[in-house]
Amino acid sequence: MSLEKHGEKHCFPAKRRVVSVLTSLVSVTCLLFLFQNFCNHEQVAVLKESQLFQCQTFDKVSGGSADILKYILGNDSFINGTISKLQNAVRIPTEVADERPDPGTHPDAKEYLPFYKLHEQLKKDFPLVWSKLDVKTVNNLALLITWKGSNESLKPLMFAAHLDVVPVEKKTWDDWKYPPFSAFIEYDSENILDSNVWGRGTFDDKNMLVGELQAVELLLSQGFQPERGIILALGCDEEASGQFGAAKINEVLVETYGDDGIYAIVDEGLNGIKKQDGVYIASPGTAEKGFINFWIHLNTPGGHSSVPPDHTSIGIISSLVTKIESKKFPLLFTEKNPVSEWYQCAAQYSEGMDKSLRYDFLNAMNDEDSNARVIEYLFETGGKKVGYLLRTSQAVDIIHGGFKSNALPETVSVLINSRVAMESSVNETMQKFVDQIKETCKEHGLGLQYEGTQLIDSSENGEFSVEISIGKDPVPSSPNNDAWKHFAGTVKSFYEDIVFPTKFEEESTELVIAPTIMSGNTDCLNYLSLTQNIYRFQPGFASEDTLGTIHSVNEHVNFETVMHTVAFVYHYINAVQPA
Ligand SMILES: [Zn+2]
Repeated sequence: MSLEKHGEKHCFPAKRRVVSVLTSLVSVTCLLFLFQNFCNHEQVAVLKESQLFQCQTFDKVSGGSADILKYILGNDSFINGTISKLQNAVRIPTEVADERPDPGTHPDAKEYLPFYKLHEQLKKDFPLVWSKLDVKTVNNLALLITWKGSNESLKPLMFAAHLDVVPVEKKTWDDWKYPPFSAFIEYDSENILDSNVWGRGTFDDKNMLVGELQAVELLLSQGFQPERGIILALGCDEEASGQFGAAKINEVLVETYGDDGIYAIVDEGLNGIKKQDGVYIASPGTAEKGFINFWIHLNTPGGHSSVPPDHTSIGIISSLVTKIESKKFPLLFTEKNPVSEWYQCAAQYSEGMDKSLRYDFLNAMNDEDSNARVIEYLFETGGKKVGYLLRTSQAVDIIHGGFKSNALPETVSVLINSRVAMESSVNETMQKFVDQIKETCKEHGLGLQYEGTQLIDSSENGEFSVEISIGKDPVPSSPNNDAWKHFAGTVKSFYEDIVFPTKFEEESTELVIAPTIMSGNTDCLNYLSLTQNIYRFQPGFASEDTLGTIHSVNEHVNFETVMHTVAFVYHYINAVQPA
């Protein structure tokens, strides 16, 4: 035993040396291999790094004086004065319905009386604007206010807003916390800016309306004279497509300034400043989805309901609706849609995002798999709301059909509303619906007429006819040019230098500016020939809860949002003047 032990003792170090040398050799080889490999990896990583998404950064642009901006945001009597003007505007119920007469030819229609009342109220509340600037009514109800610049070679800057509001459904009146046209204020005793005004139109869009007018009124009171002219375009039927308001204002503006005659337009937008994964992001809307309303009519032979066919026209159109709803449009994450840039910026700056997910976001335009994982992640975490920023929507909103219990329905109609994704068009979107109608035609031996053209011959069973009542392609993103950089730089200076230091305790808070898309439309749809520089931006930190009340019960706005609107408009008007 001892010998063995001894022998072992002798033998072991020798073995050990061999093993050790071998290990060293292997290690060196491994190291060499690893090093080579590591270098390769580095090269790959460096190569890829340069192709990864980089969020655009902006230099700050100076605008209004810091003292005045702080006064707007902090002086109680100025704040209360502004809010009381908002209350006056909200108390006048300028509701607008889809079906309404042209105010140009029917100025005395009963539903237009509140608009005249609002004109009078605004005149009282903004006396300098009305006495010193050119205030025109357009098509009787809309307002066009022009502050001529001293340098006519500079294209004017335009702000849009609308006087009208979405109607309040009578049966929802009791669901409101405060009556919808009361403009009731819930004061916050600790911080006046956290107080809220309640009522239809407080957020959409009388906040913008009063905010823009109040900024201009303040500038007038200071004796300011712009070199670059300022225009306020105040529509009267934004909530019903703008045909009698913004469209008419556009005619006047094109006539006066010509195509591309405006420097930039700032209009309402849903998103202001939002904190996402630890980062503050400002999100001006630089593009709008397209819009389609179309009718599908189905005409079939009538008859007595005691001897019905297997499927009446109501049954057939129901099966078509089911077919349409069961096939959704694809989710897309591409460079055509500014919201992709928004999510990529958010990922780049995110403090908490998983590394591989972040890599997928930044690599999404180079690699199909990354792209697919990003879409999956966005849809899983954001649900439908985010989904509809990435895809074309389809909503069957109206159905008519049948009139008597013992008669077969001869005509049935459905209206479908679709918001077209940035990557698509009205034609491509309609193709999906037409293909599905064609399948239904085959199943039931029916004909098809599309916009007056016979695609499938009519049969004794009847035929479908499709009629597009509104078809607008998506509005492409505003260009990434000097006007955009200047606008973004103005937003950045306003928040980083004026708002953040007083609002947050964090030492220095950075603001990321990333464009996004509007899933709905605004009056801007009527102003596309005036400029490509259109920024749909609502200053402020509106919460998701507040945004959820727009067009719904309990619409409200906090004082902070209103005062940010006044201050930002003041700041930007100063910023666009030549130095
Ligand atoms: Zn609006």
